[in-house]
Amino acid sequence: MSTQDDIELPETLSYHDWAAAVREDRLLGQSCEECSHVGGVPSGACQQCGSRDLTTVELPTEGTVHTETTINVPPEGFEERGYQVAVVTLGDARVMVRIEGEHVDIGDDVVLSGFIDTDEDHPAPTFETAD
Ligand SMILES: [Zn+2]
Repeated sequence: MSTQDDIELPETLSYHDWAAAVREDRLLGQSCEECSHVGGVPSGACQQCGSRDLTTVELPTEGTVHTETTINVPPEGFEERGYQVAVVTLGDARVMVRIEGEHVDIGDDVVLSGFIDTDEDHPAPTFETAD
């Protein structure tokens, strides 16, 4: 039995669970019991130490830009002009997200703004500049 908050979190985070959370404007990650690394995408093992002892955690939806880049050659299906992606620091995790609206720079505060469906059943969280 989990006693974490009032939100039921899956013990093992699957992509399906992660994607379902994104559609509800929530971000889930995994905290490593061995080294405390927090990952922002579902994985079978810790990306830092390889441990499989991972606990699902809820990530904050506000953070700061760690790195950013503009994709100028979008894959098929995206709009034609470039778009910006960023690695954002959310609590103890770093997550790659799509940026909407204004261009962001490293260190900017950003907040979860929703998600886009890049293709069927693959929602990608989007962030925008925090007010
Ligand atoms: Zn680890």
